[in-house]
Amino acid sequence: MAGAIQDLADLLARLPGVGRRTATRLVFHMLKANSDYTDALGTSIATLHEKIRRCSICANISDSDPCSICDDATRDARVICVVESVPDLWAIESSGSYRGRFHVLHGLLKPLDGVGPDDLNVDLLSDRTHNSEVEEVIVATRPSVEGEATALLIKHALAEAGVHLTRIASGVPHGSELEYTDSRTLDRAIDDRREMK
Ligand SMILES: [Zn+2]
Repeated sequence: MAGAIQDLADLLARLPGVGRRTATRLVFHMLKANSDYTDALGTSIATLHEKIRRCSICANISDSDPCSICDDATRDARVICVVESVPDLWAIESSGSYRGRFHVLHGLLKPLDGVGPDDLNVDLLSDRTHNSEVEEVIVATRPSVEGEATALLIKHALAEAGVHLTRIASGVPHGSELEYTDSRTLDRAIDDRREMK
């Protein structure tokens, strides 16, 4: 295959869910497409990192700091939902009924893979909950060994914060990522959350 086509196909094939055949098909699709589209696609990809920043309050990624969720005065500032990742945040957002704020950990506790307490944004969460209007922290990490270990870490970190600590209900299948859980199940998991003992 010609150099430029091969190069782009190689890059696309590294995306999740895109195999070699799909990558090649996409390149030929772009070749046939109008150049305004491919220019816009290229610019959008090229400027992604410089445009996107991490929210200094909740660690969500967004075009602005604070992010649009932290900046939205109509949201309930008394509740924080702690999630593993930004896709999990998006999954809960699109499920519709949650109107509180979020906190993104950007990972789960995995000591064997070298991810320790300091690699997660737990200190930032602790700062947010001490002496603030926050009344409840919902731990929405996935139901797996790492998810439960992370929930426990949060419990210890917030022991002195004087907040209600709750855990999403077990409707979410064991080990599964929230981002792949359907909206109804997610909504119910949040509605049926229970006090963490
Ligand atoms: Zn934010």
